[in-house]
Amino acid sequence: MSSPHHHPKPETLAEYAAGRLDEARSVVIASHIEICPRCAAELSAYESLGGALLEDTEPAAMRDDALENVLARIGANVTPAQSDAAPKPASALSAFMDGGLDDIKWQWVAPGVHQHVMKAQGYRDSVLRLVKFAPGKGVPVHSHKGEELTLLMRGAYRDGLGEWRAGDLSDLDQDHTHEPIAIGSEPCICLIATAAPLEFKTMLGKALQPFVRL
Ligand SMILES: [Zn+2]
Repeated sequence: MSSPHHHPKPETLAEYAAGRLDEARSVVIASHIEICPRCAAELSAYESLGGALLEDTEPAAMRDDALENVLARIGANVTPAQSDAAPKPASALSAFMDGGLDDIKWQWVAPGVHQHVMKAQGYRDSVLRLVKFAPGKGVPVHSHKGEELTLLMRGAYRDGLGEWRAGDLSDLDQDHTHEPIAIGSEPCICLIATAAPLEFKTMLGKALQPFVRL
């Protein structure tokens, strides 16, 4: 796999470094960082910066569990040998899967579209899922009420914002509208964390939503 061309926004990486992302989004970011030297380097920079800034952090401004995450990371990562970047605990995708991508029990959602929903903490607020599109298939045009992080694991898709290949990360918020469609000859598999249900823009999409549960 060549180095990814699309990366999380700096503010998303900074939130991840501070332990402020929910588990679903943390898994997507952690999975991208594992294969992206550029983001791994950026993360270490945030983490050493974070150690210095931690004393200035306003605890009241953070959610309770976010603070807990930060505390857990202090215990886990900010040890005397601070430069040895310890792996992020419990945020590797493998912790949520029984096997590899080829062992997944896919659930049908629409012609050419399958999904596999995974239980992540904060499950009601944000959902972590794998979605598989057959070539030429995709999700009807939609925007987001919250953030949507997508890591392309296999294949490729195009969505009007660009072309995305394995390793690329798409970091979207409520200002973006897009319609991803798988391109190429093999199915496209994405790891997606959504902070809120999608907001479909067409009658067809709206009509399908109760059934596809996206
Ligand atoms: Zn990256």
